Formats: sequence, structure tokens, C-alpha cells
Amino acid sequence: VMLRYSFERLHQAQSTSRQQIVMIGLVSLLAGLGLSFLLAKYITSGIEQLVKGTQIVATGDFSYRLAMTSRDEIAMLAQRFNDMIDAVDTNRKVLDRKIFEIETLFKASQTANFQTDTEKLVKQLLELAAKALRAERASMMVHTESGDELVTKIVYGAAPDGAGPIGTTRIKTGEGVAGTVLKTGQSMIVNDGYNDPLFKSFDCSTHVEESIRNLISVPMKVRDRVTGVINLVNKAANEPFSGDDQHLLEALAQQAAMAVEHARLYELAITDGLTKLYIHRYFQGRLEEEILRARRYHTTVSLVLFDIDHFKKFNDTYGHQQGDIVLVETAKILKQTVRDTIDIPARYGGEEFVIILPETDSAGALLVAERLRHNIETYEYPGQSIPLHVTISLGVATFPDHASNRATLIKKSDIALYACKKAGRNCSTIYSDSLAELS
Ligand code: GH3
Ligand code: MG
Ligand code: MG
Repeated sequence: VMLRYSFERLHQAQSTSRQQIVMIGLVSLLAGLGLSFLLAKYITSGIEQLVKGTQIVATGDFSYRLAMTSRDEIAMLAQRFNDMIDAVDTNRKVLDRKIFEIETLFKASQTANFQTDTEKLVKQLLELAAKALRAERASMMVHTESGDELVTKIVYGAAPDGAGPIGTTRIKTGEGVAGTVLKTGQSMIVNDGYNDPLFKSFDCSTHVEESIRNLISVPMKVRDRVTGVINLVNKAANEPFSGDDQHLLEALAQQAAMAVEHARLYELAITDGLTKLYIHRYFQGRLEEEILRARRYHTTVSLVLFDIDHFKKFNDTYGHQQGDIVLVETAKILKQTVRDTIDIPARYGGEEFVIILPETDSAGALLVAERLRHNIETYEYPGQSIPLHVTISLGVATFPDHASNRATLIKKSDIALYACKKAGRNCSTIYSDSLAELS
């Protein structure tokens, strides 16, 4: 009995400890599972964040940065990721700026190619510069050799109240910001506005100076000569002008300088040195154009050719220099007598002059000729002691009445002029076929 009892107790104890072992086993299994789940969750949450970050950046948002909560390898990876995005973002901004600069310069060269009017071209370049640098207004000042000073020629953007009209602002070499740029040929950026001591006399009105927060001034250069200055005023959003701004503006100023120089050389090439009238070749070209236009629009164009009477004798009496003065003064009277920008006065050669009168018939041209003849007859030419007098003879011919082409029109006006000379000089004559028979 005793043995059997002990055996049963043993059996009982064995089954209890087995149950306990199973329980312990189960509990540790559960704990293990829970722990590994938490661990997995902890590790993958950082990776999930990384994945999310790459997705956001991939959509083009380069401002996104990962937040770092731990100090493990995942955090290091996140830090590298952020550094990488920083570098990409910086490069992207640099490239964007380069593309913008190339686009701006491309637009500028397009403008320079297609705009034939220099003033309009420079104004468009100023507009382009002001928009590219986000400046309030822009101006171009050119160097006048006579006074060795800068004169404002073209402006873009609203000038503040109190600013003088174009051409009134004059700055001496070495004076103020623009004058210093002219003198040194070096660009200048002034970001503390009118407080800068250099600012004095940038503009004639102090009211205008006070409206300037900041300013960038770059030279216009042709070879190594500074021909003018371009100024941009007040960058948007209170930002300062930068080195990048200066670089771009210098390139645009280069374009403007070339355009202005081309216009100057062209003007020089078609202008007679003594009288400042158009030269013979330019006159021929313009006459051809005006005849073509008159033909197309079925209108008229007249020619007045004139010659100074007894000018050889005048030279012999008063000298060639005095004769030259007469030519210069006659050209001035001529310019004052004809319609500005419509009629085309030119020096035909020697002491012979010519006027193209678009959309003018013979009667109208004779009125102009007579007015001019009278103005010259009554003019007192400056002489050494007493005022001098000269007279002119004028011949008028009209397209299509007297000629159907340029050469014939010139010839007919010459015949009319010759008829005047024969008739005693100091008169005007309209061409007619009866005159042709005379000569
Ligand atoms: P006419 O009334 O018939 O025209 O007589 P004219 O003496 O004026 O004769 P013509 O027109 O043939 O004379 C031209 C003179 O003009 C000769 C020349 O000495 C003078 N002349 C031509 N070009 C110049 C110039 O550039 N300066 C000066 N001072 N004289 C010139
Ligand atoms: Mg002559
Ligand atoms: Mg003459």
C-alpha cells in the first residue's frame, strides 16, 4: 500500500511539473514573438520613413528632409539622404540660374537681331534687364564727348515723382555711382541705398535719391572705351543685388553698347562731315525707296535740286573757309525749312543740295523751293566784318509727272535748275519739256 501510495504521488508530481513546463514554454514563446514583433517594428519604421522620403523627393519636392529620432545606422542613412538632397537642390538652383541667364541672353540677341530702331532696341534690352534682375526701373546714360559727362538717354519703368525729364540728368566723370563706373570701367553694386556717400548726385533731385533702396551700375564698353552706363534700381522684395545679377547685366550692357555703337557708326557713315546733311549715296538709296513707295501707293514724290549762285566768285572774294561757313549755314537753313523726319535733305556734292519731298506734287514742291530761296536770300551770313549774302537757284521735278525713274527725275530737276541759271539766277523753276528743248 505504501509503495502504491508513493507511486501515485510521484505520478501526480510528474504531471504537475509537466504542465508547468508547458506553461513556461508557452509564455516564453509568446514573449519571444512579441519582442521580435516590436523589434521588427522598431527597425522597419526608420526604413519606412526612408522609403516615404524618397517617394516625396521623387515627385520633385526638394525641400523635404527626413527627421532623425534615433542614433543608429538608420539615422546615419537618413543623414546621408538629407545631405544628398541638399547637394542635389544646390546644383539644381545653380543650373536653373544658368538656364535663366542663357534664356535671357538669347532673348536679348533675338531682340538685337530683329529690332532695327536703336532706341526701341535699347528700351527693350532695359526692360529685359529690369525683369531678369527684378528691378523697379532701369536707365541708360551715354557718355557725351563734348562735355565729358553722362546724360540719361533711355529709361524703362516708372520714374518717381520729381525725376527730371530724359536728358536733364547730367553727371560728370568720376561723380557719384554712375560717374565712377564711367571713369573706372568697373561695375558697382550699392546695396545700402542713398545712405552711401557715393550716392550723392546720382540724380539731380534729392527726392529721387531717397526713393532708391539699392542700385547696380555697369559700364557699356566698346573695345576698351566706356561709352555709357546702365543703372538698375530697387530690387524686388528688399533683396540685395548679387554678383550673379552683375554678371548677367554686364552681358546685357555689352549688347546695348554694340547696338548704340552700330547706330553711331551708321549715322557717321551716311552723314556729310561739313554740313551734317545726308551724303550723296544715301540720297540715291532713299530716292529709289521713295519712288518705289510712290509707285505702289499711286502717289507723288518731288525733288528739289539747288545750287549756290556765283559761288566760285564768292570763294575767290572771301576765301574757301568763308565759303565753307556759307555751306554749313545753308545746310542749317535747309533743315529748318523742310518737314523734320518727312523730307530728306542731302548734300548732292560741292555747293549743290537736294531735297526729297515725299507725297508732294510740283506745286507743293515749288512752295517749299520758294520759301527756302527767300530764307537764304534774306539770311545774313556771318562774315569777318560785315554780314554776307548769297542766293540760290532751284529746279523742281516730280514723279510720276516728269519722270518714271530715279535717274530721269534727277536729270529733269537739273534741267529745271539750269533754266533758272539761264534766266538770271535766284529763282525756282518746275521742269517742263519746253525747258529740255532749251538746254
Ligand atoms: P553758278 O551760279 O552758275 O552756279 O556759278 P558758280 O560759280 O557757283 O558755279 P559752279 O556751281 O560751277 O561753282 C562751283 C564752285 O563751288 C566751285 C568751288 O570752288 C565751289 N565749291 C564746291 N564745293 C565747295 C566746298 O566744299 N567748299 C567751298 N568753300 N567751295 C566749294
Ligand atoms: Mg555747282
Ligand atoms: Mg553754283
